[in-house]
Amino acid sequence: MPTPAAADFIASSAAVCDAVLQLQGGALHEALGRIARILLASPYGMFDPRAHAVHGAQAGQPPVGVGQLRQPVAGTDSVFGCYIVFGRSRYTDEDRHLLASLAKLTASLLQLHAARHDPSTQSTEAEAQLSRQTQILDKIQESVLTLDGGGYITSWNKGAERLFGYSASEAVGQHILFLYVDEDANFPDAFAEQGGRIMEVRRRKKSGEVFWASLTLSPLLDPNGRQSGLIAYIADITGRKQAEERLHHLAYYDALTNLPNRTLLAKLLDQGLAMAQRKDMAGCVLFIDLNRFKWINDTLGRAIGDELLRQVSLRLKGALREEDIVARLSGDEFVVGLFDIRQHFEATTVAQKLQASLVQPFMIEGHDLRVGASIGISVYPQDGGDAETLLRLADIAMARAKQGHDNLEDSVAFYSLDMNHGMHERMRIESGLRHALGHGELLLHYQAKFAIDDIRIIGAEALVRWQHPERGLVPPAEFIPLAETTGLIVQVGEWVLEAACAQAAIWQSAGLPVLRIAINVSAREFTPALPVRVAATLARYQLAPEWLELEITESALMHDIGRVIEIMDSINALGVTLSLDDFGTGYSSLSYLKRFPIQSLKIDRSFTMGLPDDPSDCAIATTIIGIGQKLGHRVIAEGVETVEQMEFLRKSGCDEVQGYLFSKPLGAEAFEKALRENWLL
Ligand code: C2E
Ligand code: MG
Ligand code: MG
Repeated sequence: MPTPAAADFIASSAAVCDAVLQLQGGALHEALGRIARILLASPYGMFDPRAHAVHGAQAGQPPVGVGQLRQPVAGTDSVFGCYIVFGRSRYTDEDRHLLASLAKLTASLLQLHAARHDPSTQSTEAEAQLSRQTQILDKIQESVLTLDGGGYITSWNKGAERLFGYSASEAVGQHILFLYVDEDANFPDAFAEQGGRIMEVRRRKKSGEVFWASLTLSPLLDPNGRQSGLIAYIADITGRKQAEERLHHLAYYDALTNLPNRTLLAKLLDQGLAMAQRKDMAGCVLFIDLNRFKWINDTLGRAIGDELLRQVSLRLKGALREEDIVARLSGDEFVVGLFDIRQHFEATTVAQKLQASLVQPFMIEGHDLRVGASIGISVYPQDGGDAETLLRLADIAMARAKQGHDNLEDSVAFYSLDMNHGMHERMRIESGLRHALGHGELLLHYQAKFAIDDIRIIGAEALVRWQHPERGLVPPAEFIPLAETTGLIVQVGEWVLEAACAQAAIWQSAGLPVLRIAINVSAREFTPALPVRVAATLARYQLAPEWLELEITESALMHDIGRVIEIMDSINALGVTLSLDDFGTGYSSLSYLKRFPIQSLKIDRSFTMGLPDDPSDCAIATTIIGIGQKLGHRVIAEGVETVEQMEFLRKSGCDEVQGYLFSKPLGAEAFEKALRENWLL
């Protein structure tokens, strides 16, 4: 095995060989200087082709001193230059030997190389031919350069000097990759393997400017007819490229608003549809027609009409996400394509957002202009599978939306009558729910939870109800899912937290023993704002935190686990407990479950139902109980309706139960009455 110094020297020797074979001029000198620097571990090191004498003090060079070594690189009858290293406080004799060996090796190599390229060893005819070729190459306008098989530049004509700004002496010897724009480009993959073809590529000039070039490559053959490198012809085509881009823009974009036009829209919709199909998602096309635009355009003039369209296009774009498609078809017609939605009715939320974006009046040349929008929606895959059909049907739906509405009024219609009906039903519920929130139509029922061993009450779950003026008591299944898609759930959740804490505070001050009141929290509410809101509400009602628990469903926790755990930690820090609701119905992986700082798992009613006869429900229930015990969580079973179910759960080690067997959800008064009369005995 070589010693470390010897190993360094061998590595340096190999580097010198490479440099002498592949580089010339300034690039070669720089490479040699670098090798000397590395070999002698010196901050500075150079190869100076002009410094022929060991002590020849020349301008710009460091003074000779202890912290410096100089070593001429001299062959038998010529001196090639001098290695100079400095910057270390001292150099030893060993360093001097090392540099002398390097210089000797360098000199031998340079001499050998010079002999091979010595003009006197070549025929004068060949020399004359070379000179003629160089002159011809320099005369042509295009840039022409040649490369050896490894990608190093071997010649560089005047045209290349003009185009790139590098002189021949700067460029020859460099690797071709130094002109590339893409830092990760590989040679020869990206370049030589395509020999003989014309390509359009981007290259970088000395000034740093990047430009489009046409590049033609042809093989360079040696006298034996074998390929020894490449000839590259490069022409600047930036002007042509820009013209092409302008043409492309004219062909595919609307000149007024800069939005995609009908032609590009068709392409984008087809791409969106292909993606929706691959991902098994729904897609929607929204056909938007402005209300009152024609009147404005006719009475105030086209200039104002145009400006209005420009501003409308900006507002529409601002209301959408980056990945949504928005185009202008003609006049005051716009089209939006949505392709990563799960359910078609999400399109109504987007339609309402678009309409809301137009509500603020437009101020143009002193006019205060108001426009609305009628929107028709067609849905993939139900209504059609291609862009043309979906556009046509969305247009029909838009016309239907406009019918019966006056000029200013906004309206939305689906092409499919069923979907339209569903949308109206949802809109009715949504506006009803907004009204309910503001008019005290929501209320909470409380369902008791019991310890399984002695059926002692330990808490209650607060369940929201809607006391509808006409429909009576509406169960949450009829409005919570909708509130979740529209975002109204956040307001509902705020109301529930407030109402539950208010009620618990009343029971607390009435001297009742501590009962954990559990509220259900949906995924959309599970944000860092939640612990802040919980803390503020507890403080406002002076409620001890043992009175409160939050039930969260598994699905709420599947995104961004780190963030979820932070939120859970802040809730725990308040002294409020957490329970995982509907456990077993979601997809939570056990590795996540282990990390969640929760106190209890709730077996979903769908599993309780099959106990004790359905073997798979029994297996699931006992497994959940086992997991809970291992992780140190309490396990509660919901939906217990029979004594048999309860017995099975008791034997399996379940801690708590909740269900109609013990109590249905009750209004606050009835709950308190049952509490005092039956459960607190
Ligand atoms: P959940 O949290 O899993 O609540 C349990 C549901 O099962 C309740 O229905 C409860 O009345 C019902 N239940 C309890 N014991 C039995 C039983 O023995 N037999 C039967 N058949 N049912 C039983 P509810 O009140 O209709 O609530 C349904 C779901 O609505 C809740 O499921 C919860 O996901 C949601 N929800 C209720 N209130 C709220 C709330 O305030 N906020 C949020 N975000 N969701 C709520
Ligand atoms: Mg619950
Ligand atoms: Mg549940």
